[in-house]
Amino acid sequence: MKFFIAGNWKMNMTKKEAEAFVCELKPLVADCNNKVVLCVPFTDIECVKNAAEGSNIAVGAQNVHFEEKGAYTGEVSADMLLEAGAEYVIIGHSERRQYFGETDETVAKRAAAALRKGLKPIICIGETLAEREKGNTHKVLTRQIKEGFKLISRADFMNVVVAYEPVWAIGTGKTATADEANNTIAYIREVLGEIFGDTSETYVLYGGSMNEKNAEQLLNMPFINGGLIGGASLIPQKFSIIAHVKRYA
Ligand code: PEP
Repeated sequence: MKFFIAGNWKMNMTKKEAEAFVCELKPLVADCNNKVVLCVPFTDIECVKNAAEGSNIAVGAQNVHFEEKGAYTGEVSADMLLEAGAEYVIIGHSERRQYFGETDETVAKRAAAALRKGLKPIICIGETLAEREKGNTHKVLTRQIKEGFKLISRADFMNVVVAYEPVWAIGTGKTATADEANNTIAYIREVLGEIFGDTSETYVLYGGSMNEKNAEQLLNMPFINGGLIGGASLIPQKFSIIAHVKRYA
């Protein structure tokens, strides 16, 4: 199975910068066997899709609203994202949970809305430092899965990507050790497996300060088959090194 390597640009890159980035990245990942996705600001989706044409780079958004249309100022629907060229959408990123009131309930509704339209969700889960220090990591992850995935059918689950992002590791330079990340993802697969059945074909990504130096080790852990990358996805050379990681023979 290929690795799923997704960049999360967050609120970075104007259209001009995005275009220049893709022009630089395209040749760097042309011979890459992994799945490469860039999750970009709404305003960049169309231009990144166009700039990436003919390449193996897919495009994702960073949020989607759960209603189809209507009086939801500032929100963007699944149809709008699809029309702009998005194939994936990040849902429930910890920054959205922390700063924008995202809850397991809204995650569930957004994921269902995306799947209904054929947009593939990358659903983020992960514990905060306080939750981890209280020994509540498994409890939090179980709740996030049971609640956040509750509107997803078994059939739709094959279009879902899961990202385990310990909040304390995002943008901090602190990475979970490869063993920690692997063990927690093994637990996540167990919980998902109880609900959806076999997860061997499911992408469960690790995210949190993954970079060109630690990616090879993290991605080669048995339960991890991809990465969600913030900071290091803003520099084409660094991102392309991660995109090229191979399984140890
Ligand atoms: C993220 O925002 O999803 C992320 C993992 O960020 P970083 O790689 O910068 O920690």
